[in-house]
Amino acid sequence: MAADVYDKVFQVAKRRGFLYPSFEIYGGAAGFYDYGPLGAALKANIEELFREFYVTREGCAEISCPSVTPEEVFIASGHVAQFTDPMVKCSQCGEGFRADHLIEGAGFEGNVDVSDTTAMDTLILEHKVNCLHCGGRLAEVYHQNLMFGTEIGPGTRRKGYLRPETAQGIFIDFPHLYRYFREKLPFGVIQFGRGYRNEISPRQGMIRLREFNMMEAEIFLDPAEGKGHPDFAEVTGRVLPLVPKTTGERTEVRLGDAVKDGVVRNEALAYYMALTYDFLVSVGLDPEKIRFRQHLDTEMAHYANDCWDAEFLSARFGWVECVGIADRSAYDLTSHAKASKENMDALRRYDEPKEVSRTIVFPITKVLGPLFKGKAKAVADALAELDPGTVTPEAAVTVSVDGEHLEVPPEGYEIKTVNEKVAGESFTPHVIEPSYGLDRILYAGLEHAYEEDEAVDEESGEKEVYRRLRLPARVAPIKVGVFPLISKEGLPEYAQTVDRRLRRAGIPTFYDDSGTVGRRYARQDEIGTPFCVTIDFDTLGDGEHKDTVTVRDRDTRRQVRLPVNELAGWVRAKLRLAGKHETVMPAIDA
Ligand code: AMP
Repeated sequence: MAADVYDKVFQVAKRRGFLYPSFEIYGGAAGFYDYGPLGAALKANIEELFREFYVTREGCAEISCPSVTPEEVFIASGHVAQFTDPMVKCSQCGEGFRADHLIEGAGFEGNVDVSDTTAMDTLILEHKVNCLHCGGRLAEVYHQNLMFGTEIGPGTRRKGYLRPETAQGIFIDFPHLYRYFREKLPFGVIQFGRGYRNEISPRQGMIRLREFNMMEAEIFLDPAEGKGHPDFAEVTGRVLPLVPKTTGERTEVRLGDAVKDGVVRNEALAYYMALTYDFLVSVGLDPEKIRFRQHLDTEMAHYANDCWDAEFLSARFGWVECVGIADRSAYDLTSHAKASKENMDALRRYDEPKEVSRTIVFPITKVLGPLFKGKAKAVADALAELDPGTVTPEAAVTVSVDGEHLEVPPEGYEIKTVNEKVAGESFTPHVIEPSYGLDRILYAGLEHAYEEDEAVDEESGEKEVYRRLRLPARVAPIKVGVFPLISKEGLPEYAQTVDRRLRRAGIPTFYDDSGTVGRRYARQDEIGTPFCVTIDFDTLGDGEHKDTVTVRDRDTRRQVRLPVNELAGWVRAKLRLAGKHETVMPAIDA
């Protein structure tokens, strides 16, 4: 079989140090990849771009929480009960498979309802699906939880899990973050980090990993304010390729109309879809190969009430989700408030504090003191917590203190009405979540940037494949290749000084003096380096080109001659320009 783009990208990625299969000397393990030197640099640049979009531009705050998480968190969030995929095992060899993937692979063209195991059993029979490994009969479909379990503390054996998403850490910290943002909504918080999902038989390389990198934003807002975004007006005229769940067909609609017609549920979702599109284009994804597909009701995660996936078109895998933008409503904060008994609410402030009268159960401490001694304070607190509607006036009431039931005589309390100033009403914020899968985005960037031609080698005259990654300069791991024309007569020393000066100016470079300049260009083109600088004899001479260098552009292959003192400033200006996304999002000062 001829190598497809995926194979070709991976050959370059492995040979040049972007990606290595993990644990290779021990036979490898499906669902894990290492980032090599260039891959780690590319990944860091994509993260930096995400920061630029979400922290600098949108004003989100970044936090960082642990991966190891106590079980209570995922019981409350619903992951212990519901974070599952449909699994089916071979009754002969025991190999396990994703049931929905097997059914789709057998030519079923409808939508598999992954919540319905019986329906999947029927489809497996109807499509005569057998074990891919040994051809054996498949057993019944069941739901397999995807979280990796662990134990926290060898002695205490508190059950824990590796987080399957970074979001929960942000939800749990909501009361702190609300204070950090001076108790005003909306606000957003982001987190970078690893997510762990024990995927059932991952066979799609970088697309389905068991340990992967996420970049998530949680935007907390007041649903009474209509789930808008202060800058929505900037994107109402933007046209995005949408695939709504009602038609399943691609349509190109203005975002303003999509919200007005109820296709996209609210302005905030639509705004983050536009932002996501711009981000993906800035990473280097082909704008023609991006679309937004709305989740069907049967595929929505347990916490979401509307979700749009940003998908990229891959030559091997077809349309692949790389970002999920979900309206999680008040699901998470409500669940954690209930399970932890902590207050996870926010306050909807009145313009002026309001005077309200309230009926309360008022403890009479001078009676409770002698009666309950050391427990009097706890009894008073328990009385004050009571709903006055449940108390029969002038009768004894029973309160519970540390599991003990204590009877308070009628003279120990009073039911009275008090006037209070109230600042506002409390409510549970809703959450809009753009959740980015970094590894898939990085792979998509590589696949869409990959180009190849047949070329004739200058030296040998033989035909060979010339490869180029047209990565945007902003994300390219190396920004400048620095070459002395030949490696003698003072050229290497001068070139090394140029190289050092660029690095001191914050520009990642690669110094190369081996082989022909043509080969050196080709090596940099293959890893996506946008500029190459050559130091020649004119640089060293006394003529008009003294202390100037040539800079060659990867994509146009055009060369300009620049004074060496202006080089760092020139490159930095190019990088900033390449990172500016005003072409897609209108800038505030435009
Ligand atoms: P989700 O929380 O399922 O919406 O996932 C958020 C994003 O994480 C997805 O859009 C993917 O880009 C990424 N993702 C989810 N599962 C995996 C996986 N097994 N391997 C790599 N990336 C993943």
